[in-house]
Amino acid sequence: MYTAIGYAAQSATTPLAPMKFERRSPRAEDVAIEILYCGVCHSDLHTARNEWKNTTYPVVPGHEIVGRVTKAGTGVKKYKVGDTVGVGCLVDSCRECASCKDGYEQYCDVGGMVFTYNSPDKHGPGPQTYGGYSTGIVVDERFVLKVSDKLDLKAVGPLLCAGITTYSPLRHWKVGKGQKVGIVGLGGLGHMGVKFSHAFGAHTVLFTTSPGKAEDAKRLGADDVVVSRDAAQMAKHANSFDFILNTVAAPHDLDAFTGLLKRDGTMCLVGVPEHPHPSPNVGNLIFRRRAIGGSLIGGLPETQEMLDFCAEHNIVSDVEMIRMDEINTAYHRMLKSDVKYRFVIDIQGSLK
Ligand code: NAP
Ligand code: ZN
Ligand code: ZN
Repeated sequence: MYTAIGYAAQSATTPLAPMKFERRSPRAEDVAIEILYCGVCHSDLHTARNEWKNTTYPVVPGHEIVGRVTKAGTGVKKYKVGDTVGVGCLVDSCRECASCKDGYEQYCDVGGMVFTYNSPDKHGPGPQTYGGYSTGIVVDERFVLKVSDKLDLKAVGPLLCAGITTYSPLRHWKVGKGQKVGIVGLGGLGHMGVKFSHAFGAHTVLFTTSPGKAEDAKRLGADDVVVSRDAAQMAKHANSFDFILNTVAAPHDLDAFTGLLKRDGTMCLVGVPEHPHPSPNVGNLIFRRRAIGGSLIGGLPETQEMLDFCAEHNIVSDVEMIRMDEINTAYHRMLKSDVKYRFVIDIQGSLK
């Protein structure tokens, strides 16, 4: 066993603080990973504060992990000591149901997905999985991703959640040239959504509540920026979008966006607020056969595809590096939409 040092929340109201805990010795199919960097997702904050009412304490958040392999079990085929690797939101699933076999482990039909933190850990020493705000992690090689050393590793971590969560729905709804696509919210997910939508060739419009982010949005790839609280600006885009990806982490009026969709357009929700959105207006949906959908991260094959796409097209996240002991301030800033555009923890530089 290996003693890791991490940062944990002990309750919904306590700030994150250092905690030592055990990681299992690698089994035949496991790799042990020394964590270099870990991105900070709004889901970490929702979970640390029990906003989804499913947190078991103590919780060590973090599912945007980049690190190096320090040990490989005897049965490991894909990785060797020294390889640069990533771990995202999943560390296991049932592997046998139709969704798992199709590479959609995130939609495991029997609910067998094991999240990187806050899930029961059948391999122990548990009882819970503990995430990437820690010095090391042990993961089955099947749930480990290859990371290209060509990219700036500090900025790769956020691809493992913010990246795949926006890449997957944009691919599923076949976003591309000739389409008008909206991204709602310029935070961690939103800024990756803008980059991917632009890279896929769509005319990309960012919706923001922060007018001060407009210039950044254009630099990141947006063709146009709309301040969503300005009804006149919104009205100009009525009935014009093929697809809208909504990343907002707080409840808000969805009708303001469904009204911007063309006939047969879809708005996909990926943000998961603590409290529900007000119920959408049905009239807005039926008259143009508009749809509201949802999407959860991405499976392992698509996550690898996304990382390879990023290596080929030189896409990474725009990051602000923090020390581990700055995490509570980072959460505070995240709640004020003051993130440009993903915090990443320098684990080796600040957690010993
Ligand atoms: P984030 O970095 O905090 O970004 C959220 C953005 O939403 C903010 O920067 C802000 O952008 C906008 N916003 C915040 N409050 C708002 C409000 N009251 N009204 C309208 N806009 C508001 O969060 P994130 O890490 O990108 O995560 C976003 C959400 O996605 C979270 O709920 C998270 O749990 C969820 N998530 C879901 C999945 C999935 O698989 N579906 C995966 C990861 C995360 P502007 O300043 O531009 O308005
Ligand atoms: Zn996340
Ligand atoms: Zn399954």
